[in-house]
Amino acid sequence: MQQMNYPDTQLLIDGKWCDAVDGRTLQVFDPATGRSIGRVAHADIVDLSRAVGAAARGFETWRQTSAIERGRMLRRAAQLMRERAEFIARLLTREQGKPLVEALAETRMSADVIEWFAEEGTRLYGRVIPSRNLAVQQLVLREPVGPVAAFTPWNFPINQAVRKIAAALATGCSIIVKAPEETPAAPAALVRAFVDAGVPAGVIGLVFGDPIQISAYLIPHPVVRKVTFTGSTPVGKQLAALAGAHMKRVTMELGGHAPVIVTEDADIGLAVRASASAKFRNAGQICVAPTRFILHDSIHDEFVRELIRHAQGLKLGHGMDEGTTLGPLANERRLAAMEAFTTDAIQQGAQLAVGGERVGGHGNFFAPTVLTEVPQSARVFNDEPFGPIAAVRRFRTLDEAIAEANRLPYGLAGYAFTRSLKNAHRLSQQLELGLLWINQPALAWPELPFGGVKDSGFGSEGGPEALDAYTNTKSVSLLCD
Ligand code: NAD
Repeated sequence: MQQMNYPDTQLLIDGKWCDAVDGRTLQVFDPATGRSIGRVAHADIVDLSRAVGAAARGFETWRQTSAIERGRMLRRAAQLMRERAEFIARLLTREQGKPLVEALAETRMSADVIEWFAEEGTRLYGRVIPSRNLAVQQLVLREPVGPVAAFTPWNFPINQAVRKIAAALATGCSIIVKAPEETPAAPAALVRAFVDAGVPAGVIGLVFGDPIQISAYLIPHPVVRKVTFTGSTPVGKQLAALAGAHMKRVTMELGGHAPVIVTEDADIGLAVRASASAKFRNAGQICVAPTRFILHDSIHDEFVRELIRHAQGLKLGHGMDEGTTLGPLANERRLAAMEAFTTDAIQQGAQLAVGGERVGGHGNFFAPTVLTEVPQSARVFNDEPFGPIAAVRRFRTLDEAIAEANRLPYGLAGYAFTRSLKNAHRLSQQLELGLLWINQPALAWPELPFGGVKDSGFGSEGGPEALDAYTNTKSVSLLCD
């Protein structure tokens, strides 16, 4: 295992890295060992108030900075992320648990995301609308919405934050990020790249602390004009309601329960390779992870056999160890949740094909698990598992598969494997999802819209739509006589 020093993490307020005014901190743990590895500063209201003041001033500076200049600084931040990727990925693995190769991919992808937004921000075009009166010029201007409060989770500490920061900065907004207390060093390293790239004081702030206290303070605050949250559906609903009460724009990227529909004519090898690797990446703690495997009766046994083989081939271990393909769960809550999902499914009649239990006496390791013949009523087929459990059911007609996929209130991601153009067309038309990959693994490129429908939230964190979410539209009619 490659050792490294894990740094304590400070707040970033008004361009300065600092401790909380009252000196309070929280412990950070390595999820593979359960040992404490460092501390993170815990902001209080005084710190939050300073962060909001700085964001208000930062916004005034940043909106007066040209889009070209903003893009230049963002590209420099992307370059710094690439140069520092090896170091930052190690921080990420230590605090979150994912295998180093996945941490490296996440870190490097953040540079691609920043670059894409840097470029798109220079094309934030308005419109000129033909006027009924030739002496009147009609313009549609796009303006930054204002200071943003962003709440980001622990499963992709860099990736979930970078989409928000890059979109906000590209459009001329300032942003305060409440990053995850459990995995603070990697998002702090991301924020540092923007600071070191020359982004002025107050344009980005970084805070940690009590999520309930921070959201209760920031969301209603009159300076904050937009709220963006990635996390669970129940918390997202609370924050969206609070934002609604104060008429704040919101983007909500919430939970999912992704169906994987495999039809009788699918390429089974491709379907298993693509969906199994997506299932067990980051130990299944991904909002777009495949969770409900809905398999045609005729290919069910072959698919399950290959899925089990894939699960058995995974190498559990510390994310820093070479060859590890499945790390620990990020926290003990997930471990308890996996045990409860498995027990419930078996009690309701599901068959445990592989896994189903905690591995080792310390660290949050849970074996890659495949459950078959899972009853529709089992909790794992209804609540987001967010862990390394693949739950399988059979179908006989495509209507049945589509009905099952659309049955839940979630509507984030889905997968389909079929060689039939007719099936692919029907699925793309009828599945109630924000993201659908057909004959493909989950590839969430920055240029593609990313977000859900129904209880999975609304708004997009990719594509030009992501910039729309950070801009207001102003209609200007100018009599030129
Ligand atoms: P949780 O619901 O307590 O927290 C989810 C996230 O929201 C965390 O980052 C947490 O810090 C934050 N949060 C909680 N209460 C908040 C509040 N009042 N204000 C602001 N932020 C708040 O659950 P958890 O145990 O941390 O995560 C488990 C569940 O969260 C999973 O089952 C999954 O559904 C969901 N989750 C989803 C994503 C995603 O990418 N959509 C990411 C992480 C977690």
